[in-house]
Amino acid sequence: MEAALKERQDQIHRTGDKPFALVCNKDSLAGAVSQRACVFCGSRVVLYPIADALHLVHGPIGCAVYTWDIRGALSSGPELHRLSFSTDLQELDVIFGGEQKLSRALLELIERHSPKAAFVYSTCIVGIIGDDLEAVCKKVAAETGIPVIPVKSEGFKGNKRAGYTAACNAMARLIGTGDTTGISPHSINILGDFNLAGDIWMIRDYFARMGVEVVANITGDGRVADIKRAHGAALNVVQCSGSTMDLARLMEDDYGIPALRVSYFGVEDMAQALYDVANHFNDPDILQRTRELVREELEHLLPKLEFYKQALTGKKAAIYVGGSFKAFSLVKAFRLLGMDVVMVGSQTGTEEEYRELATITDPGTIIVDDTNPLELTGFLEETRVDIFVGGVKERPIAYKLGVGFCDHNHERKEALAGFAGMLGFAQEVYASVMSPVWRFTEHYQSGDRA
Ligand code: SF4
Repeated sequence: MEAALKERQDQIHRTGDKPFALVCNKDSLAGAVSQRACVFCGSRVVLYPIADALHLVHGPIGCAVYTWDIRGALSSGPELHRLSFSTDLQELDVIFGGEQKLSRALLELIERHSPKAAFVYSTCIVGIIGDDLEAVCKKVAAETGIPVIPVKSEGFKGNKRAGYTAACNAMARLIGTGDTTGISPHSINILGDFNLAGDIWMIRDYFARMGVEVVANITGDGRVADIKRAHGAALNVVQCSGSTMDLARLMEDDYGIPALRVSYFGVEDMAQALYDVANHFNDPDILQRTRELVREELEHLLPKLEFYKQALTGKKAAIYVGGSFKAFSLVKAFRLLGMDVVMVGSQTGTEEEYRELATITDPGTIIVDDTNPLELTGFLEETRVDIFVGGVKERPIAYKLGVGFCDHNHERKEALAGFAGMLGFAQEVYASVMSPVWRFTEHYQSGDRA
């Protein structure tokens, strides 16, 4: 593609063109203006939904502003996570060090907000000046009696995926410190769902109906006390590809807890997730309840989807999301609506995931890793899609081109998980694709839309 820089050509593949080959999981090309966020942002998005913890960004104010209220992660109780605290490092702190300032900020904030734990995020400048976060956190923890945990997330030290690892390492310090008495043998932790627009409440309800106890939400609507006793669960159920898989691996090594990878988006994957958990416990009652649950939900959902399918069949979609595991579910969800996915990409996909995408997508589909606005514009112009699915950074690209948009990322306000979420997704896609506003755009006038 013309808009792609020469150095990025090997991060783009077209299904069916030639044998699969795609380079990924490498640092973004300098100057390419990647859609990806930094290491610090990666750790912040994972830990942010822990609602009763203090989140203190040790760095210049810009880092905290960049990640303020970063997800639409809802809480059923405390909302301390929605406040963004920063040590606001200045030139003098850079010269003389910011440890004292950090210590003072922690003591003041802990006294004022009484959090159950505190996470202290390293940013680029802290990595450069070398403040000893570990020592400061240890001292404040001893003084205040709560866990104070450094998150080693200096922005420059890798890509966003390294931030996920830093967040998982930070949470691993909490896990194993709580009492696990009374936890059911049929129990799970939910990893990798961030309760955007209330998604996790729907998922928890499904597990409750199956007779499976949820010990800890990691991290949507998360609580420190639950995470501390998460090692008492019998199974980790991990959604998405990147963000909490490291924690699941750590818990498997340290506590022998097996992990299942699932997705809660789309009908097939949602049902499969519930059946996988039921099959893991191999309990006839749980299995029976799961069958009933799926049947009830589908009886309600499928007739309603028919209307949207008829209207949307043959329309084209492009997808660019954080992790490519979610992209699998979106490809299937669009297929259920009769739509064709012609471009799909992610910020942090692995080779294995992209290979899978090449298997499930139609010939000619563009698969792209770690793209940028220039490339995305080129892909959307080339494929003439009816809708683009992405996040806050992709939205303006779609609108500038006169293309419909569906937010499937942190900021969304609509629950899209579960069976009810599939209906919400169909409604949102329909409303965007069929909106009369597109008649006034160049894209429509060029005759590409029906
Ligand atoms: S940590 Fe570094 S890259 Fe990330 S927002 Fe702060 S300054 Fe920017």
